[in-house]
Amino acid sequence: MADETVFAKILRKAIPCDFIYEDDKCVAFKDMNPQAPSHFLVIPRKPIPQLSKAEDSDAEILGHLMVVARKVAAEQGLENGFRVVVNDGSDGGQEVFHLHLHVMGGRKMDWPPG
Ligand code: 5GP
Repeated sequence: MADETVFAKILRKAIPCDFIYEDDKCVAFKDMNPQAPSHFLVIPRKPIPQLSKAEDSDAEILGHLMVVARKVAAEQGLENGFRVVVNDGSDGGQEVFHLHLHVMGGRKMDWPPG
């Protein structure tokens, strides 16, 4: 498990983390370094390293992550909207190579992002 990601450790509960949502396909938890008043991550239990490595057969889980993002955003009170971000690879600024949606809200977001 030398190359295990921190999110894989969170999924197998080797690192403590409070899930704000979980089901048989994914979990959501608050980002430890929030970039907005509300910032949580939605990650699949399947260890897809990044979006560009997902397969056509992952379409259902990819859609499910978006559905969960919408549900948890509503539960977190983000009624004025929110931003969903997927960083992919080095140019995308990805640091943890286990696919995740960032969901951020609670303030007005800038555009374009940096
Ligand atoms: P990336 O740059 O890969 O898109 O984003 C990784 C995110 O994971 C970062 O926003 C970072 O703060 C968050 N993160 C990294 N390690 C942990 C952790 O152990 N717990 C939590 N809750 N978030 C983490």
